Amino acid sequence: MSRVAYANGRYVLHRDAMVHIEDRGYQFADGVYEVCEIFRGALIDEKRHFERLAYSLTELQIAAPLRTGALAVVVREVMARNRIVNGFIYVQVTRGVAPRDHVFPPKSVSPSLVVTARHVDPEKNEIKARKGISVITTPDLRWKRVDIKTISLLPNVLARQLARERGAYEAWLIDSGGMVTEGTASNAWIVSEAGTIVTHQLDHSILRGITRTTLIEIIAAQGLKLEERKFSLEEAFAAREAFITGATTLIMPVVCIDGRQIGTGAPGQVASKLRAIFHDTAARSS
Ligand code: PLP
Repeated sequence: MSRVAYANGRYVLHRDAMVHIEDRGYQFADGVYEVCEIFRGALIDEKRHFERLAYSLTELQIAAPLRTGALAVVVREVMARNRIVNGFIYVQVTRGVAPRDHVFPPKSVSPSLVVTARHVDPEKNEIKARKGISVITTPDLRWKRVDIKTISLLPNVLARQLARERGAYEAWLIDSGGMVTEGTASNAWIVSEAGTIVTHQLDHSILRGITRTTLIEIIAAQGLKLEERKFSLEEAFAAREAFITGATTLIMPVVCIDGRQIGTGAPGQVASKLRAIFHDTAARSS
């Protein structure tokens, strides 16, 4: 079956979908995006993803290309045309097409909207979760507003490539004070020796992960202890467990950081349990 994409008002074959060479996303990375999981035919935490998209657009003063209701229709159409049962929907909005100039184009220039969907075999992720992943650490070279989900991802790309070259799945980014901010495409968490779950507090130096937000609700409902604060690499090395969260990985146990075994070296109980119950709590919309 051929893949279908939505690009600026048209459903087209994925291989034929094009953006203009003067699209500001192409020239300046002047745009934002969202990735939302599709699980058993339903969108997971769709409302929160759309809210974050609206936040990112507002922060960058990019007009919404469609009202939320209309965007939801496009997203469902792309899911249906690609017959996605398990996978992801990708939504990208850029400031539109205009002659290259750093200054914003006139308001008459419409934002560009692209929506694609991809099938993923959920069992592959489950196999990975049963084993746990390795992460490396590298300095956080990103700009100071990573709470905005922009398509400007070069430092993330470089860090992720480094992880790949070192045989790891993810890279944790370390700020100038030696504290872990987050992963290149995930939020970072540890479970301390005392059993407290720790993740970086919300501010401009991490993305407000949707999986993170939902997981915090689950943690509270489970009566587990949570601290939203910075943690150091040394604290992570000494942790009982570590894990990452993201729409593409869900809750994924980390068993090794920079070649050092975390906890027993096997996926931890807390991470595994939270992973097992995540989809029961996250909002589903079809
Ligand atoms: N942090 C960064 C830098 C990300 O790119 C992502 C997801 O792409 C996340 C965290 C996790 O966010 P979410 O749970 O919304 O997928």
